[in-house]
Amino acid sequence: MGEPALKHAEQTWVYGFGGGTADGDASMKNLLGGKGANLAEMAKLGLPVPPGFTISTAVCTAYYELGRDYPSTLAPQVDAALIALEKESGKGFGDPENPLLVSVRSGARASMPGMMDTVLNLGLNEASVKGLATLAGDRFAYDSYRRFIQMYSNVVLGLRHDTFEHILDDYKERQGFELDTEMQAEDWKAVIVSYKEAVEKALGKPFPDDPKEQLWGAISAVFGSWMNDRAITYRKLNDIPAEWGTAVTVQSMVFGNLGETSATGVAFTRDPSNGEPIFYGEYLINAQGEDVVAGIRTPAPISRERADTLGSSDAPLEEAMPEVYAQLRDVANTLERHYKDMQDLEFTVENDRLYMLQTRNGKRTAAAALKIAVDMAREGLITENEAVLRLEPSQLDQLLHPTIADNAKRDVIVTGLPASPGAAVGKVVFDSEEAFALAEKGEDVILVRIETSPEDIKGMHAARAIVTARGGMTSHAAVVARGMGRPCVCGAGGLQIDTAKGVFRVMGREVNKGDVITVDGAAGQVMLGAVEMMQPDLSGDFGTLMEWADKARRLKVRANAETALDARTAVDFGAEGIGLCRTEHMFFDAERIPEVRAMILSNDEKGRRESLAKLLPMQRSDFEELFRILGEMPVTIRLLDPPLHEFLPHSDADMDEVAKASGVSVEELKRRAADLHESNPMLGHRGCRLGITYPEIYEMQARAIFEAAVNVSKETGRQPIPEVMIPLVATHKELQILKKVVDEAAQAVFAETGTTLEYMVGTMIELPRAALQAADIASSAEFFSFGTNDLTQTTLGISRDDAGRFLKIYEDKGIYEKDPFVTLDQVGVGELVKIAAERGRKTRPNIKLGICGEHGGDPASVAFCHRTGLDYVSCSPYRVPIARLAAAHAALKESLK
Ligand code: ADP
Ligand code: MG
Ligand code: MG
Repeated sequence: MGEPALKHAEQTWVYGFGGGTADGDASMKNLLGGKGANLAEMAKLGLPVPPGFTISTAVCTAYYELGRDYPSTLAPQVDAALIALEKESGKGFGDPENPLLVSVRSGARASMPGMMDTVLNLGLNEASVKGLATLAGDRFAYDSYRRFIQMYSNVVLGLRHDTFEHILDDYKERQGFELDTEMQAEDWKAVIVSYKEAVEKALGKPFPDDPKEQLWGAISAVFGSWMNDRAITYRKLNDIPAEWGTAVTVQSMVFGNLGETSATGVAFTRDPSNGEPIFYGEYLINAQGEDVVAGIRTPAPISRERADTLGSSDAPLEEAMPEVYAQLRDVANTLERHYKDMQDLEFTVENDRLYMLQTRNGKRTAAAALKIAVDMAREGLITENEAVLRLEPSQLDQLLHPTIADNAKRDVIVTGLPASPGAAVGKVVFDSEEAFALAEKGEDVILVRIETSPEDIKGMHAARAIVTARGGMTSHAAVVARGMGRPCVCGAGGLQIDTAKGVFRVMGREVNKGDVITVDGAAGQVMLGAVEMMQPDLSGDFGTLMEWADKARRLKVRANAETALDARTAVDFGAEGIGLCRTEHMFFDAERIPEVRAMILSNDEKGRRESLAKLLPMQRSDFEELFRILGEMPVTIRLLDPPLHEFLPHSDADMDEVAKASGVSVEELKRRAADLHESNPMLGHRGCRLGITYPEIYEMQARAIFEAAVNVSKETGRQPIPEVMIPLVATHKELQILKKVVDEAAQAVFAETGTTLEYMVGTMIELPRAALQAADIASSAEFFSFGTNDLTQTTLGISRDDAGRFLKIYEDKGIYEKDPFVTLDQVGVGELVKIAAERGRKTRPNIKLGICGEHGGDPASVAFCHRTGLDYVSCSPYRVPIARLAAAHAALKESLK
């Protein structure tokens, strides 16, 4: 490994902070992790931060490059940083009189809750515990020491937590103690002896007494945790690359558990569930570390305002420690103005002195993100464009989905904390693995747990909603659910869960595994049965932000729609046209299918024409409706695409019925179906191949389109804009032949009606050959619409319907990073899109370019379309706002470069 060593020779690995200065700052998140960078920034701002140092993410990378070992230049830098820390704190690491105790904390670029548990009180040993005892009393010191042994043994040495719980329980039982508070210093000392014996027995070597050994053990545990299962799952769900690595922050301890004048807590500068500008958070008197989020004791609210909204009778920090509260409020304001974003803070109070332990941009629900972004722009803290960038397009989905109907009947069985808004209906499941398995099968499930831990992430992601019996608004379940956009009710008191029997009881009622419940995360309610839902509100802040987004974007957004309902939804959601109207959906209509079948069954053109003549008025009225709704916005209509056999009856009963109605015998029907049978219909007689073989079908459709356009223009005085699209073209010849059919139909209709309208004829690019031949094809096509569903199938040679068997494994192995049917495969399929766009434009500089596959509603794919210079994307109506926002992001991010 000569190369890394050389590279490492002069590198700085360690960055100190504290005492009003720091080696790093908030801009260095890549190197110091979010936690380390923000601690440095807070120190620089002069805020009260316990001093410490951060070992950079570059060490994590080097650690894995070197086969889990450190560059030789690291140890001297850590030693130097420790000496500086001793100086700054006036304490000595392992000093029996005045010991420096530290926490060892992990921190990646993006926050990864629960990746590795923080080790607190490191540096305690047989000697230094005595020093702590003179400062804070025997009982406190030995209790801290035994906690440290327990935590270190679990997190760093990998021993089971319950090993220690059992020892403690046994001891208490022998002494006849009920509570930990009955334990005196002597009792803790005795427990410590047993703890250490247990460690030695399990590992064959004693618990480390040397603080340096403890420190390196903890550092290695943090770097090691980067590759543990929990971290890997979290990274996968959140698109965090493995290369980023984690940093390690070593920080001198402050104690929130020194008695009634000490406390620990978490706070948000605004409400993370609805965005209201109130000071939000929870704290516990006389507590340390994760006690607040662990959900073991129920914390009290921070502010009076918050206590009132919750109806809490516990004294808020504002009243219990008014001076500390005022200072915390100041710090919160300073940080929010400094970062120009809502902050999530961790703090500890030691003997009435406030210390800040963490700040970061707070996770929030989509509703909160929206309100905070719009409010902050109005407050002048950020610009309108910045506000637009504050809302992730994918997050918008949460706002577009239903909540509980206003006057729906609610059979509430329990009320807990409104931890994450939104509503969902599903079947009760108590186990995360099971939730995941059922969701894979397409079931809607609701995960009900006593509390959650990082092991539950997969199950939480799979569930429609989460309910917990314990834990506050900042418990693990609450934080993760808000991040994932899952509705969540926490701390549903009185919920008695019997996981083994698969049942929970509350207020004398029983709910079994598999029973349907409804969760209202905004109200904190759990209801029996499926409660009626209501559509979302698209005015107010939502409308404002979308207006700002529309100002920022260049890409147009259309919708894929063929029914009047879909078309209206699309227009309501801000679509600027229809990018794909699939005419076959109109053929499937129950009233028309007999005529469609008759057409397919006829043996000659004459017979087909007779049936088509009956279909014509029906198609015409469909198009009229669309043109009326769309006004003067373009409507791209794709001529018939699927193989004809799809329209034939399949079951015997259906066959009988059709036979009776059409006067054709069942045998004849079966013969015809067999004739039309294809072994690979996706690559068979479909798309423009139908138009080539039966031109009369396309002729009828084109006529229906133009008659409809003329009728609506006469009726409304507005000019509909039909764009006729020929599917599955591979060669220029195909398009030339079929364009002629369309143009002749248009001329005939215009001549008959004496009205002429603008229209376009173009093609879908959904075969690789068409992409490569784009220069030629563009001489006949006035527009290209990339049909990226089929283009993905034909480029990758994967049929989407059969991909389920292997695509997941491909993703797991990283062969395709994302499902290529969800996110456009930019280097493969995307390359063909680029080639076609370029070649098409060479022939016809003003050719209109769009995309109409499912990818049109996927933010990453929308960004690709922007960069490739397409004119529009078209997606399902519900995704139109997501595409609008994604297009704005793409434009804004480009101008930031
Ligand atoms: P996470 O990334 O899981 O939030 P942290 O590193 O923030 O882990 O540590 C969790 C908790 O441990 C903090 O919220 C804080 O309460 C406590 N803690 C960490 N460092 C210190 C410290 N130096 N002094 C006192 N408490 C600390
Ligand atoms: Mg933690
Ligand atoms: Mg933290």
